Amino acid sequence: MVAQPAGDSSIQVSACLDHQALERFLIWIRPLQQALSLEAERGFSDLEGRKERFHCFMQRELATPPEIPLPGDVSPRLQSFADGFADYASLGDAARRRQVTVVRQWLHALRQRLEPSAPMAPPRLKVAQRSTSATATSSSVPALESPLGQVRGIGPKLAERLASLGLLLVRDLIQHYPRDYVDYSALRRIDALVPGETATIVATVRRCHGFTSPRNPNLSIIELQLQDPTGRIKVTRFLAGKRFSNPSYLHGQTRQYPNGATVAVSGLVKSGPYGISFQDPLIEVMESAQAPLRSSRIGRLLPVYPLTEGLTADRFRSLIERVLPSVRLWPEPLPRVRREARQLLSREKALVAIHRPESSEQLQQARHRLVFDEFLLLQLGLMQRRAALKQRSAPCLRITSDRDGLMGRFLTLLPFEFTTAQQRVLAEIESDLDRAEPMARLVQGDVGSGKTVVAVAALLKAIEAGWQGAMMAPTEVLAEQHYRSLCGWMPPLHVTVELLTGSTPQKQRRRILSDVASGACKILVGTHALLEDPVAFFRLGLVVVDEQHRFGVRQRNRLLGKGLQPHLLTMTATPIPRTLALSLHGDLDVSQIDELPPGRTPIRTAMITGSNREEAYELIREEVEKGQRAYVVLPLVEESEKMDLRSAVDVHRQLADEVFPDLQVGLLHGRLASADKQAVIKAFACGETSVLVSTTVVEVGVDVPEASVMVIDHADRFGLAQLHQLRGRVGRGAAASHCLLINDSRNPLARQRLEVLVRSTDGFEIAEMDLRLRGPGQVLGTRQSGLPDLALASLADDGSVLEEAREEAADILREDPELRDHVILSRLLDEQRSRVTSAAQLN
Ligand code: ADP
Ligand code: MG
Repeated sequence: MVAQPAGDSSIQVSACLDHQALERFLIWIRPLQQALSLEAERGFSDLEGRKERFHCFMQRELATPPEIPLPGDVSPRLQSFADGFADYASLGDAARRRQVTVVRQWLHALRQRLEPSAPMAPPRLKVAQRSTSATATSSSVPALESPLGQVRGIGPKLAERLASLGLLLVRDLIQHYPRDYVDYSALRRIDALVPGETATIVATVRRCHGFTSPRNPNLSIIELQLQDPTGRIKVTRFLAGKRFSNPSYLHGQTRQYPNGATVAVSGLVKSGPYGISFQDPLIEVMESAQAPLRSSRIGRLLPVYPLTEGLTADRFRSLIERVLPSVRLWPEPLPRVRREARQLLSREKALVAIHRPESSEQLQQARHRLVFDEFLLLQLGLMQRRAALKQRSAPCLRITSDRDGLMGRFLTLLPFEFTTAQQRVLAEIESDLDRAEPMARLVQGDVGSGKTVVAVAALLKAIEAGWQGAMMAPTEVLAEQHYRSLCGWMPPLHVTVELLTGSTPQKQRRRILSDVASGACKILVGTHALLEDPVAFFRLGLVVVDEQHRFGVRQRNRLLGKGLQPHLLTMTATPIPRTLALSLHGDLDVSQIDELPPGRTPIRTAMITGSNREEAYELIREEVEKGQRAYVVLPLVEESEKMDLRSAVDVHRQLADEVFPDLQVGLLHGRLASADKQAVIKAFACGETSVLVSTTVVEVGVDVPEASVMVIDHADRFGLAQLHQLRGRVGRGAAASHCLLINDSRNPLARQRLEVLVRSTDGFEIAEMDLRLRGPGQVLGTRQSGLPDLALASLADDGSVLEEAREEAADILREDPELRDHVILSRLLDEQRSRVTSAAQLN
């Protein structure tokens, strides 16, 4: 029996469980631990799970531990924790954090106590060790799984503070990467110092002088005059505190810097009233100008860690130093050959160097290795998932007829020819459908690039092969619009289409459901709610999902969960940059329609300020006189539908009564009933109204070719991709179209963002900029982004590393699909998967 470290009085001697009990214990405790760490990760927001909120889950689970022989002190403690969660929702942030932290720590200790195989930290017995062999040293190093409280020099108080930052184990601290570095390594001559930079100089002491401030007896000052071949500089150190004002202490201090001594000085360069100086720098006396520096800070890249409440930067750095020796225990996931082929640092070296870089080159290499690993795991996970998907069988939709079949006839009936890009993408889809494995393809294409017709062609192929198709859109408006286009195209082909939405009357609904079940209805159009409803298909062969970015991973799985293996085609008009697409949808094939149908006149975009609103109204008037129509779009106000509505109603009234009393002005917003929305859109489409005031409801899909002006109010409140979408509502006809962005913000960044739109009409470029300026969470909407946690990797900047990792992942799986020979990778993947699943469960 290992003696428990002193100070952990709450942990008693281990009472190991038998195998079965242990299993049940683990099944109970793991989700608890996962929920707790997720809650901490997401900022103690009382996460909304699929079934319930975080605190309900905790309350119930803590109160119902498995019926196994638990030590006597456990049950009452669990009950009191459970009770504690009853009013979690009403607690403030700090109290929530505290509660989560305490329970987390306690559960961790409990698990350590009951799990016999759990690696224990080495006992803190001071055994005299002869450091003759390597093993002796490595055994004195804390295990990666050791709780931080058991590391020498970290007391219970400190451990608790670290736990509240999510740092429980030695490995957590090692993976707590610096947020930034202060570069003290730039060695400069005095005359080359630049204010605002951090730098290091090596210079000779000319004079040193210590005194207590005449105005403040608590402040003492040491002043050094330094000189190098290029100039002189005054360096000042401030010593705050009464004890420093003792003359003999000050004298002792100045004696450290005798005239003629060589010193190295590192710090932030400031320009003051008396020229350039250093602000409270680090100073080290050197034996000579060539001697190596002893300081761990001077002349180096100093790591800066994410904010740590109540821990000074130096303290934190010394903590890291304490656990860093444990990196030698870190398993290396990549075989040596692969590492060397890609010239990657070892994981161990990279981990050390990220915390303690010797040079910026080394830091670069370290970062590269760690980012590579993050992407590698991500890609391996996605590729395995995809391989699993491909294992299931799907209907083979091969058709023999060519031009005289349904699809062929549809293409002939269309009043236009497919663009080359459309033809290529349709061919890619067709070859997927010819195989008996489920297609999972994402079609990206700018607004108006003609994705819908491609999807319809694919649907017809499925029907021709004897199957049914479904088409889903994110909103009712859009579903209805798809339905209407289909109703225009299908009659000559004798293909039955039905529309099913939340507002379909019961009777009709029942009939449609029965037609879908019997196979009489060939294409069912609906909102994503189709998936939630108990819709049974006779033979569902292909599902088309419009606007993929609003379609969560969960819905995708639900589709498969119905026991069906239909082919899946998703379409998005908000192209995501390739890096994002690969990280998010590495399990999808991606096709791009990167060409617009001919005859479109580019949209002219301009930015104006709110005070020049009149210009916009003039433009609207001019265009309407030419027989065109205009949109005026208002932003979502603070996500609140109510306020949203109010601003739309107000603006509508103002435009209708004051600005355009002679024109018909329509109003569209999310609160309207579906039939009313339809009526408003129809009135606008047929020209009964010539100006349409709208909230962002028009964003997706509304198609009125005569609309040639788009005015977007408070454009600064929208994301770039969304603005691009909105802009895509005009320019659908042959007339020259205009988009006016009204920017009320003084923020230069907002201006810069909007200028991207003025300059570019390329959806891919805009998406790339959006990602860069706002980050992936914002671009995708944090809630459903489904992005795995990347600690270091940046989707905006590390595209090339992602590509490398992707190649490597494919190569590893080609050689070893089950990862039998890559045990560590396989284990890391399992860990990642269980993290993602627990996240999905809570989501
Ligand atoms: P998306 O769904 O990509 O926004 P749509 O499929 O709705 O685009 O197409 C936009 C408009 O362009 C529709 O009116 C459509 O009929 C038309 N269209 C599609 N493909 C072509 C083409 N190759 N040539 C001319 N017009 C096209
Ligand atoms: Mg579309």
